[in-house]
Amino acid sequence: MDILENVPLAPYTTFKIGGPSRWFCEASSLEEIKTALNFAQLRQLPVFVLGGGSNLLVSDRGFEGLVLKINLLGKEKIKQDESGVWLKVASGENWDQVVSWAVGRGWWGAENLSHIPGSCGAIAVQNVGAYGQEASRLVESVAVYDTSSQSLVEIENASCGFAYRRSIFNSSQKGRYIILYLTLRLSLLPAPILEYRDLKERFKGRLPGLEEVREAVIKIRNSKYPFPQAAKNGNAGSFFKNLSLNQTEYAELLSKVEAAFGAGQAVGLDKKKFADGEGRVKLPAAALIELCGLKDLKYGGAKINHAQPLVIVNETGLATASDVLHLAGEVVSVVRQKLGLNLNLEPILLGFTAEELKSVEI
Ligand SMILES: Cc1cc2nc3c(=O)[nH]c(=O)nc-3n(C[C@H](O)[C@H](O)[C@H](O)COP(=O)(O)OP(=O)(O)OC[C@H]3O[C@@H](n4cnc5c(N)ncnc54)[C@H](O)[C@@H]3O)c2cc1C
Repeated sequence: MDILENVPLAPYTTFKIGGPSRWFCEASSLEEIKTALNFAQLRQLPVFVLGGGSNLLVSDRGFEGLVLKINLLGKEKIKQDESGVWLKVASGENWDQVVSWAVGRGWWGAENLSHIPGSCGAIAVQNVGAYGQEASRLVESVAVYDTSSQSLVEIENASCGFAYRRSIFNSSQKGRYIILYLTLRLSLLPAPILEYRDLKERFKGRLPGLEEVREAVIKIRNSKYPFPQAAKNGNAGSFFKNLSLNQTEYAELLSKVEAAFGAGQAVGLDKKKFADGEGRVKLPAAALIELCGLKDLKYGGAKINHAQPLVIVNETGLATASDVLHLAGEVVSVVRQKLGLNLNLEPILLGFTAEELKSVEI
C-alpha cells in the first residue's frame, strides 16, 4: 500500500471540490488499515476515513492529515430462514451495487434506498434514508476496528444510536471506529414500503414487485437530481437536514408564515409536512428554502438546485468550497431571520477552521 503526499481530494468527492490531503492512502485489508493508522500515529496526524466522498465538502486548503480511503470488498449471504436472509457486506462495497444485487435475488428492504451514492460503511454512519426507508431498519450489526482499544468489535443495532441522519459513528463516537463490515437483514416476503407520497401515487393501492419499486425510486430520483455518474453538476446530495418540530413549535411556525407570507403559504406548507413519531412534525427543509425565496440563489460557482432546493450544486464546475459555504451560510441566515428556524447541514465538512464554519453555525 502506497502512502502518497499532497493528493488532490476533489476527484474523490461527488462535489468535485476541495484541496489536497497532506497524506493519502487506500486500504483493502485490515492489515493495511492498521499500517495507515500506525503511520498517522507516528507523525501525530489526524485521520479522516473516506468512502465514496458523496457526503463531503472538503475545504479549498485541503486536509493537513491522512485521508484513509476504505476499499474493503466482498458480499455474501451468510444465513437464511423462512422469512429472511442475512448478508455480510464489506464497507468498501458500493451501496447501490449491493441494492441491485439484493433486488435481483428477491430480497426486500433495500430497494427504497436505490441510487444513494457511496459506500456500504457510510450508510451506517449517516443512517441514510430515502422514500420511507432507513439504513437502521436493515443493519443488524456493524463490525468495526476500534482505534481506541485497537481491537475488533461487533456493535449491535441497538447500540448504534441510530436516529435521523445520525448514529454513534457521526456523533458521540465520531472518529473512533473504522467500519469494516455490515450485517444486513432483508426479507424474503414481499414488503413494499409505499408510504412516501410519490410512490403511493405511482402504485395507487396495488402491490408492486421488487424490481418495480427500485425502478420507480430511480425514476423519481433522476427527475430531481441524478446519480453522480450521470450528474451534470457536482453535489453532495441534500445539503440541509429536514426539521423535526413539536406541535407547539409547529403551530408557532404556521402563525409566523401566515403573518409574513399570507394564509395561502401557511396552508401550502402544512400540506408538505410528514408525521415524525411521538406527535412530532417533520418539515422538508426544501419547502422552507423555497418559501424564503432562496430557490436558485447563487454565490460564485455554487447554486441552490432548482428542482430540489435541498441540494447545492457546483454549477460551473469551478465552485470553491468557500462559495458553497458562503451560499449555505446565506440560506441558514435568511431562514433563521424569516422563520426563526435553524437549518442544520447534512454533509461532513473537512479541513475548515472554526472561524470559517461560523456562518453555518454547526
Ligand atoms: C446525488 C446524491 C444523492 C444522495 N441521496 C441521499 C439520500 O437519498 N439519502 C441519504 O441519506 N443520503 C444521500 N446522499 C448522501 C450520501 O450519498 C450518503 O450519506 C452516503 O452514505 C455517503 O457515503 P460515502 O461512502 O460517499 O461517504 P463519505 O462521503 O466518503 O463519508 C461520509 C462520512 O462517513 C464516514 N465513513 C465513510 N466510510 C467509513 C467507514 N468505513 N468507517 C467509518 N466511517 C466511515 C466518513 O468519515 C464521513 O464522516 C446523497 C448524495 C448524493 C451525491
